[in-house]
Amino acid sequence: MVHNVLIIGSGCAGLTAAIYTARANLKPIVIDGYEPGGQLTLTTEVENYPGFPNGILGPQLIENMRKQAQRFGAEFKAGAVTAVALDRRPFVVTAGKEVYECKALIVAAGASARLLGLESERKLMGHGVSTCATCDGYFFRGKEIVVIGGGDSAMEEATFLTKFASKVTLIHRRNEFRASKIMLDRAHKNEKIQFLTPYIVEEVLDVEKGVVEGVRVRHAGNGEIKTIPAEGAFIAIGHTPNTKVFEGKLEMDAAGYLGARNGTLTNVEGVFVCGDVQDHRYRQAVTAAGSGCMAAIDAERWLESQGH
Ligand code: NAP
Repeated sequence: MVHNVLIIGSGCAGLTAAIYTARANLKPIVIDGYEPGGQLTLTTEVENYPGFPNGILGPQLIENMRKQAQRFGAEFKAGAVTAVALDRRPFVVTAGKEVYECKALIVAAGASARLLGLESERKLMGHGVSTCATCDGYFFRGKEIVVIGGGDSAMEEATFLTKFASKVTLIHRRNEFRASKIMLDRAHKNEKIQFLTPYIVEEVLDVEKGVVEGVRVRHAGNGEIKTIPAEGAFIAIGHTPNTKVFEGKLEMDAAGYLGARNGTLTNVEGVFVCGDVQDHRYRQAVTAAGSGCMAAIDAERWLESQGH
């Protein structure tokens, strides 16, 4: 069976594309991906998604979008895409043992925040550990927090977070920074930011209490260990777009983000992109949803122009 539209990814962008294409009667198929529901499922309260004056839990927002898409006939398939063939019509998308054929393809595979790889970090995610200052900074008004990382993201998040936090300790594993001079200088000049280098975060405390109380760090040189008290820990060590299967098939930049042209179009006619897989700039739920809507409209119009 050849599907009209197949959507890769079930985060904000993919689900919005599913709602729109389902309402256009295109009966979309959505492949969930490795992280069903995307990055919002890793957050707790979402206070900046329009329409929810009292906020909404990230997983709940995703669940609502999913139900909304299902109501109009979107079909969800578990699993992650392992291969795509875009040099033939219909396109072929493989997810493990399942093989799908589709006329139009919407790629909403998202990006994943890089993590330190600590179990405590995973367990406290959404309970003081965050990968998004824009999303969660507001919860740390008047509190002490740490930001981990040494690139532009870390500088930007640390600087942004001083609007809320009483003190920001920026912890980086080396004395040298990848961050651009201008962003580094800005962070250095900010009186609320203290730099702690070269220290490696060994543990986020305290898993037993279920809230962040600080981080345990080790000096990268002499091995000295100490605890930095903090009520929030922002991991800002970069993001990785989930684009491995598209290498050599869709245009991407040096960091692996897919290139969108003229809205959501790509270098392959009939393939559309939306959400964080093509956006390292805004990365918001609402912008992902917005671009998901754009991709759906572009796909619908393209199918129509092809006489489907
Ligand atoms: P990045 O430049 O790759 O920096 C990642 C940082 O995290 C590095 O300092 C790295 O340390 C550290 N890191 C990586 N893995 C780690 C680990 N497991 N444990 C501890 N530290 C770890 O990533 P980014 O800061 O997200 O920036 C990505 C791109 O976006 C860059 O081109 C950047 O310029 C751009 N960007 C621009 C802006 C802006 O202009 N407003 C804002 C954000 C990002 P090492 O240095 O030791 O490897």
